[in-house]
Amino acid sequence: MSVSAEVFDELKLRADADNIYVQVVTSVLDAGELIGVPHRLRLILAQPKNELMVHFPVEMDDGHHRLFKGYRVQHNNVLGPYKGGIRFHPDVHLDDIKALSVLMTMKCALVQLPFGGGKGGVQVDPHSLSENELRRLTRRFTSALGTNIGPDFDIPAPDLGSDARIMAWMADTYMNLRDPNRRLAGRGVVTGKPLDFGGSQGREKATGQGLVYVLEEMLPAMGFNLQSLSFSLIGYGNVGSWTARLLAERGATLCAVMDHKGAIAHKDGLDADALADHVRETGSVQGFAAARKISADEFYSMEVDALIPAALEKMVTLERAHQLRCKMVVEAANAPLSPAAERYLLDQGVGILPAVLCNAGGVTVSYFEWKQNRQDEAWDLDVVDSQLQKLLVRAARRVVNFAGEYGTDMRTAAYGAALKHINDVYTIRGIFP
Ligand code: NAD
Repeated sequence: MSVSAEVFDELKLRADADNIYVQVVTSVLDAGELIGVPHRLRLILAQPKNELMVHFPVEMDDGHHRLFKGYRVQHNNVLGPYKGGIRFHPDVHLDDIKALSVLMTMKCALVQLPFGGGKGGVQVDPHSLSENELRRLTRRFTSALGTNIGPDFDIPAPDLGSDARIMAWMADTYMNLRDPNRRLAGRGVVTGKPLDFGGSQGREKATGQGLVYVLEEMLPAMGFNLQSLSFSLIGYGNVGSWTARLLAERGATLCAVMDHKGAIAHKDGLDADALADHVRETGSVQGFAAARKISADEFYSMEVDALIPAALEKMVTLERAHQLRCKMVVEAANAPLSPAAERYLLDQGVGILPAVLCNAGGVTVSYFEWKQNRQDEAWDLDVVDSQLQKLLVRAARRVVNFAGEYGTDMRTAAYGAALKHINDVYTIRGIFP
């Protein structure tokens, strides 16, 4: 019996191979086996510490009430307060949020931030609500979470479907509900806030910026350079559009983009800045004048150096992996490959740069924001960028060194490096009582 199967058996978890939580925990436990973490750590990490589910009513603009379901999952806090985004999406389910909370634990540990892993979400299509409905929903969800979040305990951030405006409403609600003498400190309850309300320079582009720093560090050893890199992108929201713009600034060519409405391409490359303006105005890449519409099959089978998924989990299935003609997959989204697709691509010699490293820029600048809030400071953009580069280059080197030492792939190496740090801290602290 494999180590992960033993742990699932002991915890009486159903090891459904198609379940995203089982898939993520299995690959983390496999990495733990490689570096020989103790059994107690496997048990602790196989389940989140806390899983909170809330139901709350919101009055719609026409006067009727709708009941919403929200989640906050707190996976592990041995390194510091729980940290992770809040997703607004109609298909949010508990197991997705649990899986993403594990990845946050791994990400924070890999970069050695003083945070643990958490994640949350609300089952809602934010685009179907008016601004007032969205604000009431956000405030009601925040009050339902109550003292389960806080600047020293659990610190949400934006994720798919949420943004700086939603973070501002969360912070304001939290501040209004707490002791008036400590109200200002309550700002640090969330990160990814607008600049005028305790946000940080560079937070909006942070995930894309971090990915670019990671590529600058890792590509030369893989035989590529950014100036001549060709890439295609799934998703052109916050992460996708910033990644595209920052890569294009360095000379790379954006060949094709797919979003929730379809795919587009241009033989000479797409103008990343103009496309970002188009998406801001229309909500999708569709209808962008300087491009032709292509099918999903054409998108996946396009020959590029790198495919960068920056949308939802598990979009690249085994069937899609068979179509790919890229030399590497750079994971901007969390868990964008199914395990079968990943195994197939590794067998084909396609490099996979894992999300816990590639998209760690977001939580890293969130950490800077939290630090600035605590110290009542506002750092300049060049300070944020240079600190971000320093931490992510260190994390990338940790992954490369681990992969070399253990002769393993980059994902297992990234989890291995993260687990080593967590295990060291558990060993020093001991387990309460
Ligand atoms: P976003 O909401 O700004 O953008 C999401 C994009 O995905 C949009 O372009 C949308 O059209 C596209 N999309 C949705 N469904 C799709 C489908 N079925 N097919 C193709 N495209 C689809 O979200 P974001 O903040 O850019 O986050 C993207 C991913 O990156 C998520 O997985 C998120 O968890 C991850 N991530 C985000 C951050 C951050 O700082 N925002 C940090 C780390 C990881």
